[in-house]
Amino acid sequence: MQWDKDAEQAVAKVPFFVRKRVQKRVETEARQAGATQVTMGHVAACRQRYLHHQEDEVQGFTVEACFGQSGCPNRIDTGEDLSQRLEALLRAQGLKEFMKSRVSGPLKLHHEFRITMADCPNGCSRPQIVDIGLISASLPALSDSPCSECGACLAACREEGITLAGPETGPQFDWQRCLACGQCARACPTGAIAQGFAGYRILLGGKLGRHPQLGRELSGIFSAETTLAIIETCLTHFKAENRQGERFGELLNRTGLAFLAPYTPKTA
Ligand code: SF4
Ligand code: SF4
Ligand code: SF4
Repeated sequence: MQWDKDAEQAVAKVPFFVRKRVQKRVETEARQAGATQVTMGHVAACRQRYLHHQEDEVQGFTVEACFGQSGCPNRIDTGEDLSQRLEALLRAQGLKEFMKSRVSGPLKLHHEFRITMADCPNGCSRPQIVDIGLISASLPALSDSPCSECGACLAACREEGITLAGPETGPQFDWQRCLACGQCARACPTGAIAQGFAGYRILLGGKLGRHPQLGRELSGIFSAETTLAIIETCLTHFKAENRQGERFGELLNRTGLAFLAPYTPKTA
């Protein structure tokens, strides 16, 4: 839907963590009113409601994603569309009612539990600063196809995570550097590097506010099923341990990540 210039400028000033939702809401209401273009009037009506009846707009959680599905060439296709399954999982948790019981005063949008997905390690949707961030990941794997030593994978890897050790050995990966971005497999003309396991990296407890912190990354790349199981475990922990509506990151600073031991590698 088209936006006039004033409306576009006004919505650009909405805080980024609710901007997408506000845009969607304004468009829906403009359409319902029979408009073909969003104007300042539509934005102003929506803004009034968010300012004065914010609790009605709170649903207890948000799930956001980057623009990967709109055709971004960097997008890693994990073969899964997690967003709907995530929404269903979060909806079943009754988070709005739960937060109401923990927060004194009216609920605000910033109380919502936030999950953000990024379809590659570039992280345009900022998965590092939300309660749970997911980053799609695709590990490279060697195949039986020969390496021609063309060097395309070296040029594609921004992490300098590949070395060529001769035509017999083929490319070697430095797993300390590799971000599982999948670019080397895309660039390889012979198929010597294939796409290996694809799944999700998981970051927990990121936040902004008065004491900002980046999410802590769990070690490993997880399948869709395990990712959903980890998120459900996190929500159970969040509800069991939450004090006065604190953010997940603050809660994890107190409790640590021991509750996720079944999902983390054992150390010797
Ligand atoms: S995070 Fe990656 S896939 Fe998503 S929009 Fe940014 S560059 Fe594209
Ligand atoms: S997957 Fe990405 S980071 Fe890893 S070796 Fe390939 S290009 Fe480099
Ligand atoms: S892009 Fe493929 S063929 Fe070229 S050097 Fe790398 S592994 Fe070998």
